[in-house]
Amino acid sequence: MTHRLFHDDAYRRECATQVRAVRRAADGRDEVALEATVFYPAAGGQPADAGTIAGLPVADVREEGGEIWHALVPDPGAAPLAPGQAVEAVIDWARRFDHMQQHTGQHILSQAFLRAVGAQTVAVHMDRSCTLDLAVAALDAGGAAAAEDLANAVVMENRPVRTTEVDLPEAAAMGLRRPPKQTGRLRVVEVDGFDRSACGGTHVRASGEVGPIAIRGWERYKGGVRVEFVCGSRALRDSRRLRERLRALTARLGAAADDLPAAVERLAERARELERELGVARRALHEHEAAALLARATGPPRVVAAAFADRSIEDLRGLARALTAPADGVAILAAGRHLLVARGAEVSLDAAAVVRDALAAFGGRGGGREVAAEGAAPAAPSAEALVAAAVAVARARLAAPP
Ligand SMILES: [Zn+2]
Repeated sequence: MTHRLFHDDAYRRECATQVRAVRRAADGRDEVALEATVFYPAAGGQPADAGTIAGLPVADVREEGGEIWHALVPDPGAAPLAPGQAVEAVIDWARRFDHMQQHTGQHILSQAFLRAVGAQTVAVHMDRSCTLDLAVAALDAGGAAAAEDLANAVVMENRPVRTTEVDLPEAAAMGLRRPPKQTGRLRVVEVDGFDRSACGGTHVRASGEVGPIAIRGWERYKGGVRVEFVCGSRALRDSRRLRERLRALTARLGAAADDLPAAVERLAERARELERELGVARRALHEHEAAALLARATGPPRVVAAAFADRSIEDLRGLARALTAPADGVAILAAGRHLLVARGAEVSLDAAAVVRDALAAFGGRGGGREVAAEGAAPAAPSAEALVAAAVAVARARLAAPP
């Protein structure tokens, strides 16, 4: 069993110790077990520590049957470690202290949610983002704010955080926030007079060191609610990032932060207005274009066939509507590899059949109604080829006796 120095003192950053064992893992990395370690292995939602052993960077730390294995970053130039060798183990303190802030903050926030809205925490994750999962159907802004206020009040009271080792019956008598999953000796972490939990992680020594606890947001998750939060220096960085984004938005929209919702609403309203105006202008343009095309067509029925290299499908549909507003109009249009066929009310022609037969020649597919149909043939050589095929099918059908 490795002696866990992080449980004796979470603030210990380094230790002089000896190598107990070295093994080669399946992924080719050397893994080292030490007599004693300051490295916390990934467990209970808290990520593993980073740092160095004998100057060699540690990539990962895992606990296995009471032994803590430190996976080293492969370094072909470094001399391999040997059992019995004296080494210095040093952790990345900034990373560890950040984990201590998030972890202790999570204990406080979980108890705050229990007291403020009666929601029990059923799972926690602390990595790049910190989350806790609440066994509650829904959370509203008022409930989240109440829990956040209570958690930050406990931080500002700077309550001592203590760890004790007890047996299961003793732990039960102390009253833990959640019944413990493990058996035997338990580590109980207490935020003085506020929260008691069984936990093997690393924590700060007083609640004030957690710094601000901020809820970033929440969402429905597996029948409960997942809350994202940040503590300490992370909360400060998060607030700074939000401020920068807000500043960019206020500068771009020329509105004060408090006026942003109204400014965005005005923009959305203007966009809707422009869209309406654009719709009217497009219809007028299509009617104008259709009148010119129909004037050159013979008939009845007046068949207009046209291929375009680059026109949107929506634009094509608008033109087809204008071409078939007159009862004797027939529109056979293509843009890219997309074909559209439509006909006026008095023309006896099945547009869906024309599209189907014309596209089939190129391995394409389409569908629609008797009055208007469309489809695509990615393998067709050109828009002109699609139109020519559709015109041939339509002419044959129009010429055939009813
Ligand atoms: Zn903990």
